[in-house]
Amino acid sequence: MSTPAPILVWFRNDLRLHDHPALRAAADSNASIIPVYLHCPESEGAWPQGSASNWWLHHALQDLATQLEKKGSQLILRSGKDPLVLLQNLCQETGAHHIYWNRRYEPEAIQTDTRIKTALPGKSFPGDMLWEPHAVHTQSGGPYKVFSPYYKALQQKGEPPEPLPEARSWQHPQTFPPSESLTQWALLPQTPWDSAFLDHWTPTLQGAKTQLNLFLDESVAHYKTLRDSPSKSGTSRLSPYFHFGQLSPRTVWHEAGNDESNGHEAYIRQLVWRDFAKQLLFHFPHTDTQPLQEKYASFPWLKNPDALKKWQQGQTGYPLIDAGMRELWTTGWMHNRVRMVVASFLVKDLLISWQAGAAWFWDTLVDADLANNSFGWQWAGGCGADAAPYFRVFNPILQSKKFDPQGTYIRKWVPELRSLSDAHIHEPWNAPSPPATYPAPMVNHAEARDRALDALASIKK
Ligand SMILES: Cc1cc2nc3c(=O)[nH]c(=O)nc-3n(C[C@H](O)[C@H](O)[C@H](O)COP(=O)(O)OP(=O)(O)OC[C@H]3O[C@@H](n4cnc5c(N)ncnc54)[C@H](O)[C@@H]3O)c2cc1C
Repeated sequence: MSTPAPILVWFRNDLRLHDHPALRAAADSNASIIPVYLHCPESEGAWPQGSASNWWLHHALQDLATQLEKKGSQLILRSGKDPLVLLQNLCQETGAHHIYWNRRYEPEAIQTDTRIKTALPGKSFPGDMLWEPHAVHTQSGGPYKVFSPYYKALQQKGEPPEPLPEARSWQHPQTFPPSESLTQWALLPQTPWDSAFLDHWTPTLQGAKTQLNLFLDESVAHYKTLRDSPSKSGTSRLSPYFHFGQLSPRTVWHEAGNDESNGHEAYIRQLVWRDFAKQLLFHFPHTDTQPLQEKYASFPWLKNPDALKKWQQGQTGYPLIDAGMRELWTTGWMHNRVRMVVASFLVKDLLISWQAGAAWFWDTLVDADLANNSFGWQWAGGCGADAAPYFRVFNPILQSKKFDPQGTYIRKWVPELRSLSDAHIHEPWNAPSPPATYPAPMVNHAEARDRALDALASIKK
């Protein structure tokens, strides 16, 4: 009996062994498996991975390679311009007849998949969503643009598919093709701006498991009440693991359960927001750079590099904004409530475009995700689906008093303000002796709000 030709399993944003439909199908086929990862930044269009994501990717690939070695396998790394060419070469070198992969839903990735499917015997499997975009639609067959009915439609579908168990073992080829070395790809920074990242993250499969268990044991029950407090460990901090696929949302859905009596349902709802954002980008592929609501394309944004820099560096003079931007720079992550407030500040108080904010987040977030980032920024800019209306402008002082009343979060990230009283920490300029090293507010919020509303009125005319 002849041995079946090997199968290439192409890993992408699914750097795990459990609930991996492509790997599982290949393992069940009895053919030998060659796991590959392709580094092709140019195939990502305008969105090659940013610096912080590259940091995560390096560690996640190193870990995946180790886990595969424990199974007697090897992760083959190849880089180039076009994944199709690299896969063609690998098929020729190894005699593989099939390529299996899990689907991605971003516009560039879909185009790549389509080209590969036309040229090679490829088979794709469901990617990292609870339900794929084509599985949920309105009664007229169109996509949802509002979250609540989308959520209802998902609830009516019942439980998402059960996660697939990890294959215990599978067949290996007698020899593996040559692999490039991960260090050659230079994903880690040349200057050590990432020194604090490893204090905050364990970017491995075990790290994902540990973080999930910690959250389920200690925090999910309080999720509803604590999720808006940036100084508390109230949210799961699983977003980078989801983005790189070290955890699948189906696994987390089934492990967390959907019990309405505590925080579980509120948590699952966030996973549905994630699906919602992904299906929006899938159905409206221009929304990574263009507003979904067309009238906002003519919004009179200001080009103000100095102001943008102050925002990026956490030097705006508004303590909550500066704490958030410094948390982002130091750890590659920012709490969701603070993301909303800093985004509103950039777009409304500074009148700098949401695209400029999205680009900075793209480079600095370890969880930078095209669908979630575009969705979050369009939400803040009031120009996306189900967005906050543009006329609703977050007041950075009131948000600070409401969500960080004792200033614990601010004190952690803005050391210049540590000695201020709770009463003055949100408005240091009112303190009897404001710290000399902390800047005065770069804009007057009340005036900036009026200016934003005038700009809005100008596009309504
Ligand atoms: C301007 C802006 C930009 C954002 N950019 C990104 C991004 O690039 N990548 C990213 O993963 N999230 C982004 N978010 C959404 C959200 O802030 C993060 O997902 C969340 O803070 C991650 O922390 P967590 O894992 O503790 O979240 P939890 O509260 O524990 O939520 C669990 C998971 O649900 C998903 N989720 C939570 N909130 C949202 C949301 N509003 N939209 C979509 N999915 C959500 C995430 O995958 C998250 O890990 C952005 C939000 C805003 C306002």
